[in-house]
Amino acid sequence: MRYHTHIVSSLAIGAGIATYTPVSFTIAYATGLVIGGLLPDIDEPNSYIGRRSLGVAKQVKKAFGHRGFTHSLLAWGAITAVLLLQHFSSFTLGLCLGYAFHILADYCSSQGVPLLWPFSKRRYRFIVTYRTSSFLETVLFYCFLALFIYFLMNGAIEEQDSLFLF
Ligand SMILES: [Zn+2]
Repeated sequence: MRYHTHIVSSLAIGAGIATYTPVSFTIAYATGLVIGGLLPDIDEPNSYIGRRSLGVAKQVKKAFGHRGFTHSLLAWGAITAVLLLQHFSSFTLGLCLGYAFHILADYCSSQGVPLLWPFSKRRYRFIVTYRTSSFLETVLFYCFLALFIYFLMNGAIEEQDSLFLF
């Protein structure tokens, strides 16, 4: 999945959560969703975030390979445990959710993700998949964009939050 689809899908699902739960869709929460939605690709120097990582991506790829450790449940669990238990805020909540949505989105791609790394290197994927940069991904991008706008206009933003956003 390309970076803009990751960003829009994270924002859309995050806004959906804000619509149906007491979570507020604030700038901090949205920023967390975007960063978390890009962070797992820190293992690929050519990714959007990898090109801005000042060489970190090269080291991570060398150590674990692309779609290795950073795309596992263990990595997500570790980040979630550290951030949410020790520094809970709407930003860290957004980041942990965005990270999970990234893994979920790649799980639905034809390459799959090594969910159980390091216990198994097997890449798991959903029964229905899409190819990165395919026409289907473009369709998914616009669907998530529409969904995001729908949630924003239908309850994701509470009255007091709208002061921060607009
Ligand atoms: Zn990825």
